[in-house]
Amino acid sequence: MSFASLGLKEPILRGVRAAGYETPTEIQAHAIPKILAGAELIGLGQTGSGKTAAFGLPMLDKLCGGPPGLRGLIVVPTRELCVQVAENLRTYASHAGLSVCTAFGGVDMSIQESAFKRGIDVVVACPGRLIDHLERRNLTLEKVQMVVLDEADRMLDMGFMPQIRRIFLRLPQERQNLLFSATMPKEVESLVEDFLPGAERVQIGSRSQSAKTIEHRFAAVAVADKQYALERLLQREPGRVLIFVNKKLGCERLGNALKRAGFPADAIHGDKSAEARYACLQAFARGKVRYLVATDVAARGIDVDDIELVVNYDFPLGLEDYIHRAGRTGRAGRSGRALSFVAPSERRLHEVVAAHLQGREVPAAPKLPGRGYGMPKRREGGKPSRGRSRTAHAAH
Ligand code: AMP
Repeated sequence: MSFASLGLKEPILRGVRAAGYETPTEIQAHAIPKILAGAELIGLGQTGSGKTAAFGLPMLDKLCGGPPGLRGLIVVPTRELCVQVAENLRTYASHAGLSVCTAFGGVDMSIQESAFKRGIDVVVACPGRLIDHLERRNLTLEKVQMVVLDEADRMLDMGFMPQIRRIFLRLPQERQNLLFSATMPKEVESLVEDFLPGAERVQIGSRSQSAKTIEHRFAAVAVADKQYALERLLQREPGRVLIFVNKKLGCERLGNALKRAGFPADAIHGDKSAEARYACLQAFARGKVRYLVATDVAARGIDVDDIELVVNYDFPLGLEDYIHRAGRTGRAGRSGRALSFVAPSERRLHEVVAAHLQGREVPAAPKLPGRGYGMPKRREGGKPSRGRSRTAHAAH
């Protein structure tokens, strides 16, 4: 299987070579011909499977050679993802004469506005900033032919659903829609019903593959002992480790504590400036920072394939967050490990995850405001494992 056999035009194939890709990944081989033929798709599953090229290449292919103007829209939840998706698309478009712009908050609108004026074929945008530009008439969506909604469940978690609906309402009737989501909470289903009713669902990043390559472990650790346990663990970890915490303040504190203890560590969270977050991601990608403490939202932007270990310092508040976090390791077919500290107050959250990993029905989740688990809420079968349970084979 080659990229050429998928039906892509020569300028796009040159972009693929510029990216250094030789053979298409599973999702690319499956999705590219369908998207080129005009199909609407819903891609379900984790990132790390090459989905950016799966939607980016056919989008650019369709726009290549057409009249200039904003014809491709990609909506993403975070600035980091915005920058990364745009960087990838610029590489793919490097021989196609198409220009890819970004629109995300935290930077001066006029910089983005002048980029649009220089020429724009595709915009990769975060919902809030996109709406700001639309309202100021810096952009119009009237010529958009193809729209991609990336990480739809994450947009929901971040409260972007009303903005997404407003954006969809401004799009022309005649267009091709693509949506990607790791899970399908009911609000995402209802968005699909309203805006992509006929779309075909495809599994991306083969669930069984991620199940086989990630080893999930849990350790009972009291809250007061967590930092010590983490430091002991990091002393034995030569590779890259991504450490998740639930709150920005805790993230900053833990990053500082690790730095003070002499670890090559840093923290990334939403209270840092866009520039500081970018510098931090670069340092992590280059290996200058090996231990990165992150919140869920900030971690969405990390595009590093060789994360050897994911540590849940704070237990994630929902099953979807657990799946997203663990999915940061074991990418691109490598093996990976996820280790979660479980304090006594986090046992019920752990039970939900353990049941899911063991393929049992997921018990009713502890009540947390605004969280959709997207899983059956009946409980059956034996006691969930706790403490030092080890699930080497995780079926999900
Ligand atoms: P994504 O799922 O789009 O975030 O891609 C995950 C990583 O795989 C990124 O670093 C991509 O550049 C890389 N990648 C995507 N497609 C291919 C391919 N066909 N061959 C090699 N690497 C790829």
